[in-house]
Amino acid sequence: MDIQQILEDIQAEVRPLLDQGRVASYIPELAVVPGDKFGMVVRTVDGASYAVGDAGERFSIQSISKIFTLTMAMQLAGDDLWKRVGREPSGNPFNSLVQLEYENGKPRNPFINAGALVVTDVILGHLDNATETVRDIVRGLCDKDDIDFDLAVAGSEQATGHRNKAMAYFLKSFNNLDNQPERVLDAYFHHCSLAMTCLELCEAVLFLANNGVAPLSGDLVMTGNQVKYVNSLLLTCGTYDAVGDFAYRVGLPAKSGVGGGIVAIMPGQFSACVWSPGLDASGNSLAGSKALELFTTKTGVSVF
Ligand code: GLN
Repeated sequence: MDIQQILEDIQAEVRPLLDQGRVASYIPELAVVPGDKFGMVVRTVDGASYAVGDAGERFSIQSISKIFTLTMAMQLAGDDLWKRVGREPSGNPFNSLVQLEYENGKPRNPFINAGALVVTDVILGHLDNATETVRDIVRGLCDKDDIDFDLAVAGSEQATGHRNKAMAYFLKSFNNLDNQPERVLDAYFHHCSLAMTCLELCEAVLFLANNGVAPLSGDLVMTGNQVKYVNSLLLTCGTYDAVGDFAYRVGLPAKSGVGGGIVAIMPGQFSACVWSPGLDASGNSLAGSKALELFTTKTGVSVF
């Protein structure tokens, strides 16, 4: 199979979609990113990588960071984590507050904002410098020492993230945050602001396609069973309230972010990352979702 040619065909096919999505504007610093960017990378567990478009440009990973914080929280807290956050799709927007009220402050899953705030709180409870530790783990996973927070993006969200702030205080009112809300929010905004390329993201999540082993270092990030847990959560909760439609179309565990990135996992074979900043109504990259759908359709490779 000529993966490079398939990626080039996909790039041409999604081009008309690039101006149809809407670049996230509720974080002002994200609104300045040109909407016509498109990059895609497929990285196999045995070392091959294929790239098209703006695959070498760093972008704001936003909610894709929730994979790394969940991975850490699972290591640090074990099953206790699930006393504070659930494992069900929310069926609501990623930043919704309503469900938290009638479910007594226990977020539906770790991949919506409320769940990620609880996960961040768990990490903060175990580590003095949790913010930097997440960055350093990501650096190690893709062997790139210069991966860093985009402080302009973090500051922009700190200045305008009133809904996330409301959510953190709301969680605190249900005693589901141990730390002060402002401390949790600061760490959360920093993690979301990490800037990475499609190839770096592919490498950073490749352990989820490789039975828990990071291919670059050979390190065991998590057990094969934990990989099953994370990938199952990605399939059922990774793309917000569009997750059923996304799973139907793409057929891979995946995580999106409002920076326009989406990572997807094919266990035993590869990770993929696509970036296109224009979003659909649920906050998933419009052209990016289509590109992944075309990839699994053209190759005939999905978890099903
Ligand atoms: N930082 C963003 C927020 O909290 C992340 C959301 C996302 O990528 N879906 O709103």
